[in-house]
Amino acid sequence: MDKDLAAQVADTARRVVASGAISANGHGNVSIRVPGASEMYFTAGPSLIDHPASAVARVGLDGTLLEGELPPIQAAVVAMHTAMYADNSDVGCVLHTHSPYATAYAVARRRIECWIEAMAMFGLQDGVPVAGYGPRGSEEAIAHIRSAVTAGVPAVLLANHGVLVFHRNADLAILVGGVVEEAAQAGINSAKLGGPVEVPAELRAAALQRAMAFDRQGTARA
Ligand SMILES: [Zn+2]
Repeated sequence: MDKDLAAQVADTARRVVASGAISANGHGNVSIRVPGASEMYFTAGPSLIDHPASAVARVGLDGTLLEGELPPIQAAVVAMHTAMYADNSDVGCVLHTHSPYATAYAVARRRIECWIEAMAMFGLQDGVPVAGYGPRGSEEAIAHIRSAVTAGVPAVLLANHGVLVFHRNADLAILVGGVVEEAAQAGINSAKLGGPVEVPAELRAAALQRAMAFDRQGTARA
């Protein structure tokens, strides 16, 4: 076991919890791809809250447990992570949570549309799709995820379950998980005010370009 990588997975779990985009019981899992190998490091603990590095498991992308322990509840969802790595060589981190507002949309089987600018900036300009229901981590569930996710989309709602986020690295995955939860919360809160209004389609690219222009300039210092 690479101690640094296991610590990195535990730290990612800690940061997901700190982000607030997680249910109160901390249910979920985090994985990080092992660079240059068909393996991932995966949180095998029952909750992401105070998840120790010692409970991180090393798992092959074919689903084989290579090192550590994998309790049944966590073993059942391994395929949700391995499928994301197998499908996209750019994916370096996968997060799964039951963050409450996004999960409300997953339970209602409703997409989160592009209601906040951050969605346009982070690959969700066409909203967060919903993958149809299948038992957690089953072949059926994975097939639904694969058919819901289109190229470049970093997140999907899992019907009657929760959220799956996948990105190049942990920083971006945590960020997108937060954006999805924030958009879902805004969607639900604005329902009392007549309902959310989407960012006009023609301005989504403009929002991204403006953000990129500021990014290129770097931090302004007086
Ligand atoms: Zn779950």
